[in-house]
Amino acid sequence: MILPIVGYGHPTLRKTAEPITPDYPNLKELVANMYETMYNADGVGLAAPQIDLPIRLFVVGFRPYDEKTNTYGEPTEEHTVINPEIVSFGDKKDWFNEGCLSVPDIHEDVLRPTTLRLRWMDEDWQQHEEEIDGLFARVAQHEIDHLDGKVFTDRLSSLRRTMLKRRLNDIQTGRIQTRYRMKPNKK
Ligand code: ZN
Repeated sequence: MILPIVGYGHPTLRKTAEPITPDYPNLKELVANMYETMYNADGVGLAAPQIDLPIRLFVVGFRPYDEKTNTYGEPTEEHTVINPEIVSFGDKKDWFNEGCLSVPDIHEDVLRPTTLRLRWMDEDWQQHEEEIDGLFARVAQHEIDHLDGKVFTDRLSSLRRTMLKRRLNDIQTGRIQTRYRMKPNKK
């Protein structure tokens, strides 16, 4: 089931999300719905606060895109990440152009560590601890920010944020068009 996504300015995106326990109700169904919602919106990551659920859970998925047919293939990599803990960061940082399903049509370069050591539970409640890099490392940090009540535009310079102010305000007040369904912000 495709769930509506909340946008910039929604109060749930500003909450610190809570850890969950293995008896969390209908966890497998929730995770399946989050993958479906993410792929429907052509996203590569989706955190539970983005579907108005302030819990420490996010999904990540990468699918190859075929330019000739304009379609996506089967996912080549997927991660369900529950109660993540960043154990440590690597020394190197780089810039990467980020976007967010909750902040439609805004793409900005963000500086983050390129590698990190991450510990998490998956949907079968198996523990993982891995040194992660590449796109997974990038998306994981973006999604963990969501669990901590942050969005990627918070990490931009104050000059960039000032320049984006009107567009962020348009998202906040619902004056935007998206291909996927969004949940209106509470007044
Ligand atoms: Zn996001």
